[in-house]
Amino acid sequence: MTADADFARRLAELIAFPTVSDVSNLDLVAHIEALAAEHGATCRRFDDPQGGAKTNLVVTIGPEVAGGLVLSGHTDVVPVTGQSWTGDPWAMRTLNHRFLGRGATDMKGFLACCLAALPHFAGMALKRPIHLAFSYDEEVGCTGVGPMAEWLGQNAKPSLAVIGEATEMDLVTAHKGGTIGWTYVTGKPAHSSQPDKGVNAVMIAAELIAEINRIAEEMRSGPTVEGIDPPFSTIQVNQIEGGSHGNILAEHCKFFWEMRLVPGDSVERVLGRMKARADMLEPAMKAVTSDAGIRLDIQSRIPPLGPSGDDALEARLLALLGRTAPRAVPYGTEAGIFAAAGMPAVVIGPGTIADAHQPDESIAIEQMAACSDFLLRLAASEVS
Ligand SMILES: [Zn+2]
Repeated sequence: MTADADFARRLAELIAFPTVSDVSNLDLVAHIEALAAEHGATCRRFDDPQGGAKTNLVVTIGPEVAGGLVLSGHTDVVPVTGQSWTGDPWAMRTLNHRFLGRGATDMKGFLACCLAALPHFAGMALKRPIHLAFSYDEEVGCTGVGPMAEWLGQNAKPSLAVIGEATEMDLVTAHKGGTIGWTYVTGKPAHSSQPDKGVNAVMIAAELIAEINRIAEEMRSGPTVEGIDPPFSTIQVNQIEGGSHGNILAEHCKFFWEMRLVPGDSVERVLGRMKARADMLEPAMKAVTSDAGIRLDIQSRIPPLGPSGDDALEARLLALLGRTAPRAVPYGTEAGIFAAAGMPAVVIGPGTIADAHQPDESIAIEQMAACSDFLLRLAASEVS
């Protein structure tokens, strides 16, 4: 029982849909729905509430009863602009026992393994369902998956969700959570020889960033999770824009920050610190003009993933994978969102994260074979 003949074909089909996060994924979803229909699976869409031409898709195979398995991955990929590819990123190539193409590792390789397994799932006497749960907008902060994960948690009540981000088929049970956003500072322009007549948005932003630096330093002695590199929470400012001229007090400044917190650390605590500093600076700004101010705009929050606490489940997965211990990873995935929606969630997927987002992105064929094998054995042990 292998699906190896099929996964190459499925991956080539998926790569041919250029589903960069800012474009529609509806053609790809329709393609999967057509495949699912051939095997008697039920499809449910969870459309983008912002009206974008994007949707999450749940493909359910087996009886519609509570419990069962969720196999999940995202349909979107990162852009190829500015990268030097040695061929068409949207036409899969095979080279040195690897498949090349945008999304090969992140994470159409896993989706292709799920789709290749579908006919095998259909042929099993499933006692509980298998749900393939495919999301959109993962690469822009996991902003699409929420309603689908909630529906699964409330209605399908699966006993396990496997998120297939690249782990080289290791069991990953913990990762950091991410929160990202912009801080907008509005000042008042004035000639730079007269600083008291205006509010310098760049100088205020610098004060706020200095506070973020202090928070970052303190995180080194905050909560830690062994196995994540680095084991403590981090916060960074990675982008800044402000000012219009060398001798005018800046009217506007905005900067982008991201924090990656270990399970057990508190986003609210960090945001509280950032807000407290803003609250200290604002009265003096408003004394010059009531239009001045500081606004924090949280763009997305990805909850951290902590171990489920179900040792028997972990032991079963490790045995199926031929591994001895679970791992933790520094990058965020949608697994934290599934866990928050009320189901045990783990990350297990083919390929290595180092290949994600790269020009000439590729995945080892052997990794996809290992994944396909795992999916069939997991289905046999969990739901049939
Ligand atoms: Zn990914």
